[in-house]
Amino acid sequence: MNMQEDIAEVLVSEDRIKAKVAELGRRISDDYRGEELLLVGLLRGAIVFLSDLMRKISIPVHLDFIGVTSYGAGTRSGAVRLVMDLETDIAGRHVLIVEDIVDTGKTLACLKEKLTARRPASLRICALLDKPQRREVPIEVDYVGFKIPDKFVVGYGLDFAGGYRNLPFVGVLKESLYK
Ligand code: 5GP
Repeated sequence: MNMQEDIAEVLVSEDRIKAKVAELGRRISDDYRGEELLLVGLLRGAIVFLSDLMRKISIPVHLDFIGVTSYGAGTRSGAVRLVMDLETDIAGRHVLIVEDIVDTGKTLACLKEKLTARRPASLRICALLDKPQRREVPIEVDYVGFKIPDKFVVGYGLDFAGGYRNLPFVGVLKESLYK
């Protein structure tokens, strides 16, 4: 695997990501000022975004992770199943789910329903990327980094068959690699 050669096009550059993450961090800090925020990262794709984002948030935050099944080795959205639960009791807490990308919306809709049942004080969603054309389930995403076209992307935490997560930008994978 040669990561750079497998990329057809850089969709969101490292510089644009950096600027957007700083902007989102400022907005989140303003919106939750005076509160204590629990960031919930979705494993594994969100960890790069989350680790940059949390350092741009200037109010106190706590951190937890939740694991759901995602694409596996292919590019089609599979069944949504909780594979790792939170350690934190979120009742009465302000919770912000941090996700890499919203595609059909199934993952977040399902997760939002599960977490709402635990009675958090508030529950919002922050996603780096959004593919609105692919939406099958309506879901409100409170903080969105970039709206992108319906293309399969990798990098900055997003994988294909487990690889490419460490690319510092978001790129479109060459179709020949998965078609
Ligand atoms: P949804 O449930 O919204 O259809 O899917 C969300 C999940 O699908 C994301 O967390 C991500 O794991 C995966 N996904 C959706 N689109 C892409 C994409 O373009 N590239 C990669 N690598 N994963 C994607």
